[in-house]
Amino acid sequence: MRGEPEGLGAGPASQQGMRRANLALVLGVIARAPRSRAEVANGTGLTRAAVSSLAEQLLAAGLVVEEGPAAPSGKVGRPGTALGLNPYGPGGLGAEIGVRHLGACVVDLRGQVRARRRVERSNEGREPEAVLADLVVLLRAAVAEAGLAPAGLTLAVPGLVGAGGVLQRAANLGWADVPLASGLRAALRAGDGGAGLAALPIRIENEANLGGLAERWLGEGREDFLYISAEAGVGAAIVLGGRLLRGARGYAGELGHVPVHPDGPHCACGARGCLEQYAGGAAVLRAAHLAGARGDWAALVADRAAAGDPAAREALAGAGRALGIAAAGAVNLLDPAEVVLGGGYTRPAPWLLPAMRAELAARVTVRPWSDDRLTVSRLGRRGPLLGAAVAVVRGIIADPGPLAAPGAP
Ligand SMILES: [Zn+2]
Repeated sequence: MRGEPEGLGAGPASQQGMRRANLALVLGVIARAPRSRAEVANGTGLTRAAVSSLAEQLLAAGLVVEEGPAAPSGKVGRPGTALGLNPYGPGGLGAEIGVRHLGACVVDLRGQVRARRRVERSNEGREPEAVLADLVVLLRAAVAEAGLAPAGLTLAVPGLVGAGGVLQRAANLGWADVPLASGLRAALRAGDGGAGLAALPIRIENEANLGGLAERWLGEGREDFLYISAEAGVGAAIVLGGRLLRGARGYAGELGHVPVHPDGPHCACGARGCLEQYAGGAAVLRAAHLAGARGDWAALVADRAAAGDPAAREALAGAGRALGIAAAGAVNLLDPAEVVLGGGYTRPAPWLLPAMRAELAARVTVRPWSDDRLTVSRLGRRGPLLGAAVAVVRGIIADPGPLAAPGAP
């Protein structure tokens, strides 16, 4: 997610590159907590003069604001005026296409949610153009409500995303090889009405990856964990050393297609006995004798389980066993500190956890498993959409150059 400035310190562009890197350095320090210019200089090793000049650029770009006196610090003489992230500066626009919902969210530079919209509707088998047109209506409403100008847009999707913002496969939507980034831009242009959204940088990202990153950024400071979520299918994100593990082609985290039973049911991916066939929302509904039920699978099954329905409880226990088997393999392979259940799993978690814990305890043998390493996300279903919006502002903070110095490469 963090865009690393490229080619710094080499060739004729090095001076400009150095300035861009220093803008990121200064903004990164301010993003952690409001700081006076003197404190920024101390924290970065830059001279006071350099920090003042860079701060002027960040102020002019609307990325930071003067916040009044900084807290007195023993290391600095008199307190200066603190610089903080500008809550009215450029924001992040997040969007989500789910199998059964659409979402839009705007966060400010500090990561505070300024507007959030969600509509429940089945998108399965619909034409991407029609879904994108609906999404644009939602995005425009969220931006109007937030009153912030977004600097970028990230769209969360339940599928494999390839180069150039192409959704390669989203089996549960029935979509394959959909050029979503260009399609979304065209839909934004058609419905723009002067809001300027069609000109934004657009990024398409797997929803489980964004759910995992939201856990990293907005959760409890975890740095090494496996995040597992489910809607119709199963998604996962691997975060190690605070970074998302993407793999050679960006497809890492497809836990839903890790085999649980070699002779199990056929999966939409072409293989057999994948985790998704036991623990995806559609599979859990089938096991609970609710196949084809409309609405929110997780709420439906959790409500039945809470009411004592034996089929719902057995369906969730079976999903928990399969999750435990697949997660144990991942834990033995990757040694994450924690396994975090998120998304659709958060509500039925009380009926998933016992069987999942038992499998993890029996199968994680590299080092003894302890139950406190299996946790449930506080962000729940909001994770991927929040992650999408926050990814934009994290990108700005990691590399403010393009906004702070218009025309810079
Ligand atoms: Zn599969």
